Amino acid sequence: MPNRILCVEDNPQNMRLVRKILCSAGYEVIEAADGNSGIAAAYEQAPDLILMDVNLPDIDGLEATRQIKADPQVRDIPILALTANAMHGDRERCLEAGCNGYIPKPITKNELLNTVAHFINQTEYKRA
Ligand code: MN
Repeated sequence: MPNRILCVEDNPQNMRLVRKILCSAGYEVIEAADGNSGIAAAYEQAPDLILMDVNLPDIDGLEATRQIKADPQVRDIPILALTANAMHGDRERCLEAGCNGYIPKPITKNELLNTVAHFINQTEYKRA
């Protein structure tokens, strides 16, 4: 079975790009366009990994991450923050909220695939 990745992203262009890159590498992509549907999809779909945009129209990606990481049912799913803000302190804010890692925008194919593969392998190693 292919690994399933939930992408929480409100920008259709970014979503298309992420989907194209991940599908080309054999991943299955589940889409959510805001924070609350992202949280719901984490429960309903039990994805192998979550890509979480930070700026979302309802609750932001960091708050969605906090909520997911507060519940034992879903908190082991790795979450990688996607953020346009390369500002100093941004990485720290993501990690403080409970994100396992961080991918700065603009997204590049190699960085996205390498980071996703790293966290998915790590999770499978822990389960084995
Ligand atoms: Mn956004």
